[in-house]
Amino acid sequence: MKLTNICKNYGEKAAISNISIEIEIGKICAVLGESGAGKSTLLSIIAGMTSYEGTVEGVGRTSYLFQSPKLLPNLTVEENLKFVLPKQRWGDILPMLEKVGLEKLRTSRPGALSGGERQRVAIARAFLYPHDTLLMDEPFSSLDLALKKSLIELCAALWRESGSTVLFVTHDVHEAAVLSHRALVLRGGRLAGDFAVEGEPPRDFLVTSPLEGKLTAALMQN
Ligand code: ADP
Ligand code: MG
Repeated sequence: MKLTNICKNYGEKAAISNISIEIEIGKICAVLGESGAGKSTLLSIIAGMTSYEGTVEGVGRTSYLFQSPKLLPNLTVEENLKFVLPKQRWGDILPMLEKVGLEKLRTSRPGALSGGERQRVAIARAFLYPHDTLLMDEPFSSLDLALKKSLIELCAALWRESGSTVLFVTHDVHEAAVLSHRALVLRGGRLAGDFAVEGEPPRDFLVTSPLEGKLTAALMQN
């Protein structure tokens, strides 16, 4: 995937200033930045959900996962997944619900689920939806640590099976170190850092890597 000279302004304010990057297909890339750095705007541009200047190539079909699960409240878990899939793909739903540990809740409605269970449904839906590139905007931000660990490991397992290119937004350097192959740091709409992450995700959630210090420094530099 290739982004060239991407710019996005809101009125006088630049949300993204001249970003050019190539992102490897089939890998996981973290997009780090403090609040207002332009992370969500960059994802929206890649998804084609907002106007921009510059060129975006090689994204293919996109699937999008938001921080809040955004499930349809009147549909069951299974119906929420059917809703985004053509009928000939409905056979994939039950195996996916088993993978994410929700097969027993398939006839429940979102209101009867915990926050973590709802986010599992959203993750299942995002991976099931036909795509080449999966975009996740702060998918783990509002979760407690144990839940964060299990959902990061779940996403890594689903990524491995899917072969998707994954971009996920976070302000947490630890999430980036555990789940990504590469971590981009945005600051004030500019690309302020680009780090390779060694090894294959998921890395041990209970280990803090030296990379996390470097990412924090890149996030906070003036
Ligand atoms: P992040 O996701 O990193 O927190 P965003 O991409 O949401 O940052 O926002 C980047 C900048 O663009 C911020 O200064 C934000 O206030 C501004 N911005 C985002 N969306 C809009 C919008 N719809 N209208 C005006 N300004 C916006
Ligand atoms: Mg955002």
